[in-house]
Amino acid sequence: MQDPFGRSVSYLRVSVTDRCDFRCVYCMAEDMSFLPKAEVLSLEELDRLCGAFIRMGVRKLRLTGGEPLVRRGIMTLIDSLGRRLQTGELDELTLTTNGSQLEKYAAGLAAAGVRRVNVSLDTLRADRFTELTRWGKLDKVMAGLQAAKAAGLQVKINAVALRGVNEDEFDDLIAWCGDEGFDLVLIEVMPMGEIGDSARLDQYLPLSMARARIQQKWTLDETDYRTGGPARYYTVRETGRRLGFITPLTHNFCESCNRVRLTCTGTLFMCLGQNDAADLRTPLRSSEGDAALEEAIRAAIARKPKGHDFVIDRRRAPAAVPRHMSVTGG
Ligand code: SAM
Ligand code: SF4
Repeated sequence: MQDPFGRSVSYLRVSVTDRCDFRCVYCMAEDMSFLPKAEVLSLEELDRLCGAFIRMGVRKLRLTGGEPLVRRGIMTLIDSLGRRLQTGELDELTLTTNGSQLEKYAAGLAAAGVRRVNVSLDTLRADRFTELTRWGKLDKVMAGLQAAKAAGLQVKINAVALRGVNEDEFDDLIAWCGDEGFDLVLIEVMPMGEIGDSARLDQYLPLSMARARIQQKWTLDETDYRTGGPARYYTVRETGRRLGFITPLTHNFCESCNRVRLTCTGTLFMCLGQNDAADLRTPLRSSEGDAALEEAIRAAIARKPKGHDFVIDRRRAPAAVPRHMSVTGG
């Protein structure tokens, strides 16, 4: 699948639910309302949609959410997609999770063929963790991480960099990831979804500043490691682990963007930072064959925009993209 700018789309991120057992302050309001069940694709429908994308050239799938591991029966989808790894139709199946359910699922994920997981963790302090996630318990996530390690899963920690919240912990996170054998990615907070007016402006911390501070203590060696995504990776010489920076607010990665995002209602977003989307649920449900669905996917990819336009600007409304990150899964 090639888009009009010559980028081939080989990576699909699928949000399997909009629900979550946490309420991270930068992601959701505490009183979120979630989608009615009828609007959400069944696991069978999600599997069929993924199958169509795989036939059309997707080689890498990432499940996300909401929290993917709170979706009931999720292992049936993961097992089914895992079989496509065995047949060679798919190169990689991964997920992004808050880690709360990993203790229960890590072994099953590994058995299904998952090799790597991204676990979101912004702080190593239990009280701060509960403040940030509102409903989360740090010890559950830590137990999940140990289960992931024991199952042989590679772990990448995603931490959102938040001004005045966890910016004093980057050194601790780097050292801890070094000890545990995890890679670390710092993410700049993005203007997505309404979470309360001034909150986002106060949270915004440019990663150029974070990196300069980190470099006072750690030696960051340049690497050419790339995932086709927005992260720029370094190797921390002292720990030997990778450290990535995701700075979506600076236009530095759209040229190499190889991904599209599917929501749990079957809406395809061709760019994280734009509102244009394609409804795939209607063609999916309209017939048992996949011809209409494949045509809709092709038409959508043909509309993939050149780039995005996030702005956090004190003179403008804070939510540059009105949907929450839990809709498209980051
Ligand atoms: N629940 C899972 C988790 O937390 O890993 C998967 C979904 S979550 C929406 C995916 C990623 O998006 C997480 O790493 C989270 O920290 C990040 N995220 C959520 N809201 C964000 C925002 N406004 N700006 C930047 N990253 C955000
Ligand atoms: Fe849930 Fe992930 Fe959003 Fe936190 S970032 S509220 S864990 S979906």
